[in-house]
Amino acid sequence: MIELRSDTFTLPTPDMLKAMAAAPLGDDVYGEDPTVRELEELAATTLGKQAACLTPSGTMANLTAIMAHAPRGAKVLVGDESDIHIYEAGGASVLGGVVYEPIRTAPDGTLALDDLARGFPDDPDDPQFALPALICLENTHNRAGGKVLPLDYLAEVRRFADERGVAVHLDGARVFNAAVASGVPVARIAEHADSVQFCLSKGLGAPIGSIVAGSAELITAVRRLRKLLGGGMRQAGVIAAAGILAITTAHRLAEDHANARRLAEGLADVDGVQVDPAQVQTNIVMFRVDGFSWRSFVAAAAAEGLAVGELGHGRIRAVTHSGVTEADVDRAVTVVRDVVKRGPRG
Ligand SMILES: *Cc1c(COP(=O)(O)O)cnc(C)c1O
Repeated sequence: MIELRSDTFTLPTPDMLKAMAAAPLGDDVYGEDPTVRELEELAATTLGKQAACLTPSGTMANLTAIMAHAPRGAKVLVGDESDIHIYEAGGASVLGGVVYEPIRTAPDGTLALDDLARGFPDDPDDPQFALPALICLENTHNRAGGKVLPLDYLAEVRRFADERGVAVHLDGARVFNAAVASGVPVARIAEHADSVQFCLSKGLGAPIGSIVAGSAELITAVRRLRKLLGGGMRQAGVIAAAGILAITTAHRLAEDHANARRLAEGLADVDGVQVDPAQVQTNIVMFRVDGFSWRSFVAAAAAEGLAVGELGHGRIRAVTHSGVTEADVDRAVTVVRDVVKRGPRG
């Protein structure tokens, strides 16, 4: 099976397994796992933040960060196409009592400042309005097809938020993809946000884990919330050891980006496939196939050894990662061509 449903399917490398087996361990709820500490320090330094905290998932990383920033009853401005709004079971709303305000997401993954501004009440002293405390951005943006948010846009949102006294949280599940695609250190992206979460478990290739990074004060609050949510892990150095290698080998994401472009260009040559290779900036390719629903296409492709997924609005998603070679990409294009030729009822 050529696995293009997600970069979460990456398996730990032999180097990671070796590091996991050799990692010095302790009880991380006591703050005594040296490998977790090393990972958190590396993550904080790499992102240019004071501190960082390892969580079991990106969902918990976003949830703890949002709850640390926003008190009950506060508004949190989120993209209407964001992972936080669509795929995280409404966590901060259910558990943190915040009011999500979904903001229209542009095709490039940005939220227009005018639209964000409408989330702020004209008269903040009028008691009928919930007050915004936080803006959440996503970079790269999954449902925009892996788009990288421009640095000058991030700087504009930073200024906008500072003028209004609210914080900025970056859901950077794939922020290392953004950094590699733009050729800048990840800290250049992170500097515009008060907190950043990123997934060790996606393109970076670790089996488990995400990081929240921010100020020392914020991370103290995140750590308490992580415990509250049941995310305090004991000898978590076992997974942190893989996380350290994930961060230090992030440059290899460039291969995934090249493979995604190759895939998009191959698909563009197939009659009946709608794809725009110019839109592919990182490791995500989105496309449609004439005559197929996403569901019928996913099933037909799977029967031929190609696993792809859906991305909402009837679109199909293919994600490249370390488990996918250039030859796999070429084979995937052949499978798509065969499936399209046979037609939806083939
Ligand atoms: C995957 C993802 C998450 C959530 O991470 P999990 O580890 O699956 O909980 C959050 N945001 C974005 C943009 C993601 O792609």
